[in-house]
Amino acid sequence: MTDRAKSRKLYGQACELMPAGVNSPVRAFGSVGGDPIFLQRGLGCHVLDADGNQYIDYVCSWGPLILGHAYPDVVEAVATTAAGGLSFGAPCRQEVELAELVVSAVPHLEMVRFVSSGTEAVMSAIRLARGATGRDTIVKFSGCYHGHADHLLVSAGSGLATFGTPSSAGVPPSFAGHTAVLPLDDDQAFLKLMEDRGNEIAAVIIEGVPANAGLLIQRPEFMHMLRDECSRHGALLIFDEVITGFRLGANGAAVHYGIEPDLATYGKVIGGGMPVGAYGGRRDLMEQLAPLGPVYQAGTLSGNPVAMAAGAVTLRTLLADAGAAYAELEKLGAQLEWGLREVLTRLGVNWSVVRVGSILWLALQDGDPPRKYEDIRPESAETYAALHRAMLDRGIMLAPSAYEVMFVSLAHDPGIIEETVEAFEDAVKAITS
Ligand SMILES: *Cc1c(COP(=O)(O)O)cnc(C)c1O
Repeated sequence: MTDRAKSRKLYGQACELMPAGVNSPVRAFGSVGGDPIFLQRGLGCHVLDADGNQYIDYVCSWGPLILGHAYPDVVEAVATTAAGGLSFGAPCRQEVELAELVVSAVPHLEMVRFVSSGTEAVMSAIRLARGATGRDTIVKFSGCYHGHADHLLVSAGSGLATFGTPSSAGVPPSFAGHTAVLPLDDDQAFLKLMEDRGNEIAAVIIEGVPANAGLLIQRPEFMHMLRDECSRHGALLIFDEVITGFRLGANGAAVHYGIEPDLATYGKVIGGGMPVGAYGGRRDLMEQLAPLGPVYQAGTLSGNPVAMAAGAVTLRTLLADAGAAYAELEKLGAQLEWGLREVLTRLGVNWSVVRVGSILWLALQDGDPPRKYEDIRPESAETYAALHRAMLDRGIMLAPSAYEVMFVSLAHDPGIIEETVEAFEDAVKAITS
């Protein structure tokens, strides 16, 4: 067994001071069992825990670290910029640089505004959509996560009622009542809702590729139907690209599908590991924001030079030769996908490996990979808990939840992927025997 005495001690202290010892719930290992591992450093594709154990990291801070941990140019940009002042609360050059990179990379972004998290980006985009359309209702899909703003912490209502119920205490049912929740991959349900209430709907929001409840790859026809119906009914289409933005190619999932959303939200990769979110889209919509327009949104630390510099160096590194960078991520992702698949076939285990680019998910269940949340079998979480533990003990860090995906970074390499596949074989044998 791996010795994790220091992690255990820190966790004991942390639990006295912070709820469950963590500042974001899934870090607490609640669904995989055992104690969370405290990390002390990251380098490339590796992380080191408080006891000095090393792991190959497939969490990558839940997606931002597409260049790997402590990428030298990012670290240097952060250090140099910080030496000149951390935050001004006034405009700075670094904001213009990051905005320029983002707007020139993504054709449907005419303007952006930076905030400090993905949650804030989505919350603000929703407000903007409501302000611009003069409508209140929003539509989301079950299994899509858009951060923890009140109107989005909503689960599907029971039975035929599509209007949601709060999925968190503290969200007034009247707020949730403004959010309709529909299953993914269900054209009829969506068409029906739009037919009945299309003229009340401010916005339809969907993840570029839903990647917060497994990886639920949607049919392109479904995505195009959303675009067509939104246009027909005067609702805005918001692509939440907090995970997919600058991960699935230089211009995200929307361009991949050939769809022009009205607004798009960003986070994770766009900050290169610093707290950055962004939302953007059509100029006429963005100009509804204060101080030009009536939709208010602000932030003390928004666009601070250090965070902007980390994002700018990250994007510049990716986009300098975007073809090569994303081809490399695709190649590493494919190697991992086929390696894991080959192990499963050889061992006669009927799980599936779902992948898009550098995002992978293990669906630990029989049959076709699910395309909607309702098709993920809850029992798979138990199998995942065992796999997660077995992989940790073999030096591989997976996310501590069956519903979370794996992220490959440019710091991973073919040898590392091979090592991961070998550990996987060993782990699957151990937990299925
Ligand atoms: C992570 C995530 C968010 C929330 O971003 P935070 O920075 O954690 O607030 C929103 N949408 C999607 C699709 C995400 O994956």
